[in-house]
Amino acid sequence: MRIAKPIRELTPYTPGEQPQDSHVVKLNTNENPYPPSPSISGFLSSFDLDRLRKYPDPVFSQLRKRIADIFGTKPDMIFVGNGSDEILTLAARVFADDDEAIGAFDPSYSLYKTLAAIRNVPFVATSLPDDFGWTEPVVNHDSGAPVALFLLTNPNAPTSVRYPSEKVAAFAKSFPGVVLVDEAYADFADGNCMPLAVSPDNENIIVMRTLSKSFSLAGLRLGYCIGPSDLIEALYKAKDSYNVDALAQSVACAALDDLPWMAANTAKVRATRARITSELRRRGWDVPDSQTNFLFARPAGIPAADLFEALRSRHIYVRYFPGPRTGDRLRITIGTDKEMDELLAEIDKLA
Ligand code: PMP
Repeated sequence: MRIAKPIRELTPYTPGEQPQDSHVVKLNTNENPYPPSPSISGFLSSFDLDRLRKYPDPVFSQLRKRIADIFGTKPDMIFVGNGSDEILTLAARVFADDDEAIGAFDPSYSLYKTLAAIRNVPFVATSLPDDFGWTEPVVNHDSGAPVALFLLTNPNAPTSVRYPSEKVAAFAKSFPGVVLVDEAYADFADGNCMPLAVSPDNENIIVMRTLSKSFSLAGLRLGYCIGPSDLIEALYKAKDSYNVDALAQSVACAALDDLPWMAANTAKVRATRARITSELRRRGWDVPDSQTNFLFARPAGIPAADLFEALRSRHIYVRYFPGPRTGDRLRITIGTDKEMDELLAEIDKLA
């Protein structure tokens, strides 16, 4: 066979649709509805093209220093990836042996299961309670394979619910493997686990962030993580030589230089989130309190799958995950106020 068994048998991860038609309301992939900081366009127009002639800094020195300054930590505790998805791929390669397992909550980011399958190790899902709140992770596979890497999205996706840092810290203390806290949505939340990552007592927690959501830079592909330097060094050993291009490194520095813009942007999204949450609840929907830039909502008066299709035919894209834990809900990204009003108007016609 020309194709390796794990890939032959793989059910690939399905990303959200990226319709090319510009006349759509796109609330399906948790992108930010607002353009990135205007300081980036000034930066780009003065970017020295000669820098693209040479290979980029393979260890992202300037960017790491910038991130280290923001979080009051040291550059040797920081790794940068071509999007945080690349860091997840590397983590699956680096933190689990062939006879070990990878674990995560269910439901959570569906890519995790695919990464374990590509890596050809068992995936151990810990079922969340009905309110999607914290439960103790299962740390062994039926085969006896111990979970060596637990991928913990916080706030979780698609549930939008955040777990308390104390729960994460207590779990990590009891767990011999690596806990990778995927904080893709943390800038929209009331708290985060970064203090655990930068603590000198931390031996096994890595906290990961992305510029894709709160910085409106999903097209740039830039994620980073912070954790104990021995674990971070292991990621460097396994990465491609030039995994983050020169333009992405520079634009990321410019974006991180404008934190007030990010704070204002997330405040706007949070205000819209609060308004739409109460609008939907008023219509009888079940909407958990969201700590992210999306809602995970159970419609009233129409099954989620039917509403998903009906909205799609009206050029409004939301995300639907079939399955026992997710199939009665829609994941709706928070768009602009105008987009959300269009969504509400269509819902009122359909439900
Ligand atoms: N983690 C979670 C929980 C996500 O939802 C996403 C976005 N799909 C990612 C990571 C990947 O983000 P990035 O754009 O940085 O690769």
